[in-house]
Amino acid sequence: MIIDCHFHVDESMLTLEKMIEEMDKNNVSKTVLIPPMNETMFDTDSNVQHYVHSLFRFLILNVPQIGFKIYVSLVEDGYFKVNGKHKVITKPDNDIVADAINKFPERFLGWAAVNPLISESVEELESYLERPGFIGVKAHPFMHGYTIKKLNPIASLCQEKGIPIIIHLSSEPYSYKYLPDKYPNLKVIYAHAGLPFWKKLWKYAKDQPNVFVDSSSDYLSASMVEKVVDALGYRKVLYGCDGPYGMKRFNEYDYSHKKSWVDSLEIPEHQKEYIFGKNFLSLIEKGQRDRPLVPL
Ligand SMILES: [Zn+2]
Repeated sequence: MIIDCHFHVDESMLTLEKMIEEMDKNNVSKTVLIPPMNETMFDTDSNVQHYVHSLFRFLILNVPQIGFKIYVSLVEDGYFKVNGKHKVITKPDNDIVADAINKFPERFLGWAAVNPLISESVEELESYLERPGFIGVKAHPFMHGYTIKKLNPIASLCQEKGIPIIIHLSSEPYSYKYLPDKYPNLKVIYAHAGLPFWKKLWKYAKDQPNVFVDSSSDYLSASMVEKVVDALGYRKVLYGCDGPYGMKRFNEYDYSHKKSWVDSLEIPEHQKEYIFGKNFLSLIEKGQRDRPLVPL
């Protein structure tokens, strides 16, 4: 079973019906949805973006003092500055995900997004986690601009419930160690292979039984996915797209691209099955046992 563990819902870019059509074409059984964190954001129709991403990857990996400066500058004054300027959504709307799950309960699961800087968002979190299909929590210290320590109450809640948290890290030094060191039973997935720490984070995550990464987004590439699987092994990497970002035109999302990054890995097929879905399923197992509400 192929499960995409990281995809945003923005129907001004890609409708739910079109998503399902494309999932079917690519044998993706389920997609785990996240509400949008920024305004609608299409990719520019040029090769420039491709080179910008490659340069960015090179700098983060090899000249981090410059790469990190660029990374930090991508979010400024409430705007995300990639492919133009897009307003950051400070209070992500989990109802968008709840509605999608209600409409297609067999095909969609959800991450309940939280911004700990907004107390309402934290208060509402538990009620979303009670809703059908929500399997864990999404936090975005990079986009929402807070220190990892702000996630303490949320991490403690997730550990207690046995549900995973998926985090897009900011550039805060060593922030990738903070929660796993403090909550050893907390299941953490670092988005985009642990951007922006990559190699350092992989070195740390290798010996942490509950730390995982996803393979999503145009921040990565086929060779980056190869590197992270080499570094961490196939049991710690989860397939995801981070769509609909990266698409150029309304309702034209190509699922096969990110999927080919895993398909082309030179590892046995049964190991790819873990990346494509088995790792994710084992992460949500406990939460599901306590509260069997998703038809899997
Ligand atoms: Zn994302």
